[in-house]
Amino acid sequence: MAASSLADISERCHKIAQSYLQIKEPSSPIIRETQDAIKLTQRLVLNDIFPRWSPFNGEISFSYNGGKDCQVLLIIYLGCLWEYYKSNTNLKQFPLDTLKAVFIDQYQTFHTLEQFVEFTKKRYYLSLYESDRNHNKSLSMPEAFHRYLVDHPETKAIVVGIRYADPFAQDLKPIQRTDEGWPDFLRLQPLLHWKLSCIWSFLLYSGEPICGIYGVGFSSLGDISHTLPNPHLSKKKALPLFYEWEISHRGKGVVNCSPLSSQDSHFQNDEYFPGWYLLDDSLERCGRVKKH
Ligand code: FAD
Ligand code: MG
Ligand code: MG
Repeated sequence: MAASSLADISERCHKIAQSYLQIKEPSSPIIRETQDAIKLTQRLVLNDIFPRWSPFNGEISFSYNGGKDCQVLLIIYLGCLWEYYKSNTNLKQFPLDTLKAVFIDQYQTFHTLEQFVEFTKKRYYLSLYESDRNHNKSLSMPEAFHRYLVDHPETKAIVVGIRYADPFAQDLKPIQRTDEGWPDFLRLQPLLHWKLSCIWSFLLYSGEPICGIYGVGFSSLGDISHTLPNPHLSKKKALPLFYEWEISHRGKGVVNCSPLSSQDSHFQNDEYFPGWYLLDDSLERCGRVKKH
């Protein structure tokens, strides 16, 4: 059932994270590793981020593109927001109706992903700034964020769901300023230490809807003209499913994939396993075609 408010979905996300942390006898080492990853992310958000930039007054924004990583971070972040609210005895009521977020609709992305962003914007009560689809597709990321900050000058820090395994990310820090060539703000990156397998374990356990493109052989979602199903997910070779327990723990046993848009229906196939069959971080982007 859909949540009735940001407070409601935040409380629900808090329960998801806490119930994952309470799994007693994990069926796989991935679960134990994911529990540690959640705890570190929660510590960064609650101890290092919220005391410095209030999550309640517009100083923080959340960068969201509907991908699995920022969705995992969003669930944990909303749970932290609930915990932070509960620990603040001055607050009689949950102080926000929506969460400030930003989506740079930069490339020709999958229509299914755009629909998923629209759907989850409502599900998670995001007040989502979307860079102009018709005019600004050619803007670079730094230019797009420059425009965002002109429109939202109160923003001091932006949450990013980037991980060490992403390209050029190995030296990033959980909290750091932007680089030269970018508008000046703080990047908040509390998901850096997460492995691909932890992302899937938590997301599949959560029972939350996930973007349908992952269901048809994609492990990472880039520009539509440069992203193919990942060859390492080909059914020519049998692959084991590592998350059977996570998928079935609520008795449902099905993954809640968003429907493929009619424009993406040609991606439906029987030749590839879903994205969560891939375990190795270094193979996540093997479905990308090199740009020339
Ligand atoms: P993905 O897994 O696709 O993205 C990683 C995360 O980036 C996502 O979880 C999401 O939080 C965010 N993100 C990605 N694409 C979008 C989008 N279209 N709209 C909104 N959020 C998105 N690079 C630098 O070299 N120097 C910088 O100072 C710098 N600052 C950045 C500040 C912000 C707020 C963001 C979002 C990115 C910044 N980047 C910067 C780029 C960043 O390091 C990644 O290269 C970029 O996010 C693309 O990630 P990816 O496609 O490799 O991985
Ligand atoms: Mg990612
Ligand atoms: Mg990307």
